[in-house]
Amino acid sequence: MRYSQTLIPTVKELPADAEILSHQLMIRSGMMRKLASGTYIYLPSGRRMILKIEQIIREEMNRTGAQEITMPVVQPMELWQRTGRDIDYGETLGKFIDRHGRGNVLSPTAEEGFTYLASCEIQSYKQLPMNLYQINTKYRDEFRPRFGALRSREFIMKDAYSFHATEDCLHKTYMDMYNAYCRVFTRCGLDYVIVQAETGEMGGTGSHQFTIPCDNGEDVIVYTADSSLAWNIEKAPVDPLPKQPPKETGPMTDLHTPNVGKIDEVCAFLKLKPQKMIKTIIFATKGIKTESLKNLGEKLTKHDGRSIASILLNSESPTKPYKLIAVLVRGDHEVNPEKMRVIVGDSVELAEEPEIIKLTGAAVGFAGPVGICDKADKVIIDHAVAAMAVGATGANKTDYHTVNVVPGRDFPLEGKNIAVADIRNAVDGDTYEGKKLLFKRGIEVGQVFKLGTKYSVKLEAKFSDVDGAIKPCLMGCYGIGVNRIIASAIETGNDADGMILPITIAPWEVIITTAAVSDDVTGAAEKIYKDLQAKGVEVLYDDRDLRAGVKFKDADLLGIPIRLTIGPKTLAEGKIELKLRREKDKKLIDLVAAADTAVALVQQLKDEIAKKL
Ligand code: ATP
Ligand code: MG
Repeated sequence: MRYSQTLIPTVKELPADAEILSHQLMIRSGMMRKLASGTYIYLPSGRRMILKIEQIIREEMNRTGAQEITMPVVQPMELWQRTGRDIDYGETLGKFIDRHGRGNVLSPTAEEGFTYLASCEIQSYKQLPMNLYQINTKYRDEFRPRFGALRSREFIMKDAYSFHATEDCLHKTYMDMYNAYCRVFTRCGLDYVIVQAETGEMGGTGSHQFTIPCDNGEDVIVYTADSSLAWNIEKAPVDPLPKQPPKETGPMTDLHTPNVGKIDEVCAFLKLKPQKMIKTIIFATKGIKTESLKNLGEKLTKHDGRSIASILLNSESPTKPYKLIAVLVRGDHEVNPEKMRVIVGDSVELAEEPEIIKLTGAAVGFAGPVGICDKADKVIIDHAVAAMAVGATGANKTDYHTVNVVPGRDFPLEGKNIAVADIRNAVDGDTYEGKKLLFKRGIEVGQVFKLGTKYSVKLEAKFSDVDGAIKPCLMGCYGIGVNRIIASAIETGNDADGMILPITIAPWEVIITTAAVSDDVTGAAEKIYKDLQAKGVEVLYDDRDLRAGVKFKDADLLGIPIRLTIGPKTLAEGKIELKLRREKDKKLIDLVAAADTAVALVQQLKDEIAKKL
């Protein structure tokens, strides 16, 4: 492509809302532009990267025997009601009502659509296993879209769904996909870490995430000091802390703590360290009350006098009982929502203010375990709280906290609705099976799940087995974020001048830069450009009538791995300049052999990556 005819609008200024480097560089290099918060237009260089990554993914998926299809992005709400994810997915699910009053979902993932397809097309064990995938737009109404391509509202995901008759067969495909993911990320030139992950909203029995270690990652990777085990922090287990020896303490006493509800304020007021505090946080299982459905409906557009509420309420969407859960963690610890989801067996969110007041009898910020354990539907006490000799906590009385609270004496550690469990995030100093836990940040670029029969039961994707018995298919699902691969490659490949991209995903492999405009220089550049194109090299020819320095800056910003520079001085000696983006030094090569030299170098850079497979 000729630079002069391609839309590559590079800019010097840092975009105001771009907090991290990949976002800044994607804008500055002219790769993308913001359309609205969390939605981006990918310009030619960005689009080329997307296509290259998609092609790598496609080749690796096809290698495993997976078959590519296309699923509509707009999907019937009714399917999502049948799985309960119209509620469980929460506000992240984009919804609208069409002109006929039908509820629709903007696919944030596609278990429902693929399982529906399987329910129509799979009848017999003879058709199994079946693994289908698509590379398609996903929409998530993220609470806080940020960091450009890392967390956008609209993005491209490769999602695959496999269907099986047996656990063994599911495991085999799961491992095939796991290995295909290793190949995808290696081929994209990324260094990745695989961690055990929670299955989250997806449900299921096992999951791994593929994570690119980097400081700007939103995920925390926890690993044992000997590197034998690694988890996403949402799953990382911790050893229970040793029980503290009992302490001589007086009776429980309520202290007046006016307007101090937040933990650091309480600690400052009571002159206590956070680890001496017991935080009581009230959660609720999600979306249950008819009231909430009504509110949701009223928020949405009415159609023909019917709101979505009436559509939802008249549907067969199951209504689940609403439960209040009190969770106790030490003042210096944080509740881990995924661990909680596993213990509760359902999606949970912070309870609403009226519910908290109803349970505790106090304003938000003054909840405590004393006297509410038999009122909450469930009480989950973190191991570290159970191990405390004594602590201070909310008094269930507005503006009061209680000191000298002894776990086991002043509130129960056992009971029908009480569980002592690992419910918090791992922190520095924790161990697992005696091994020290270490932490680093990372970007989740892909995740694989064993789903079991969660979706196939609800959507009736069944098959008749060898013995004629009708069974639900076992399922796996497998996602990769295409745009996040771009952002990760930039976060891990850059210098002060711009991006340093792996050749396999860079928008172009070679850039030809003319350092002056003269017939000789242009003639030589045109020839190399045509030769490289003929040899199948992806080449950008910077034919703009600009100062060489400006062109070099743009080439560096774009991160193109190989630069060929043609200038009058060296040309007079039959030479041109070759520079690798990742290296400082330049070298002169013979003009006559320039195209062949570049082709060989392209191959060498590709081989370096392929060798890691
Ligand atoms: P996260 O925990 O970061 O919100 P997720 O676990 O919900 O992501 P999955 O449902 O596993 O995401 O989706 C598969 C892949 O899609 C992710 O591994 C990630 O690469 C990509 N992805 C998910 N959400 C976004 C987003 N908002 N913007 C860009 N890519 C995303
Ligand atoms: Mg995920």
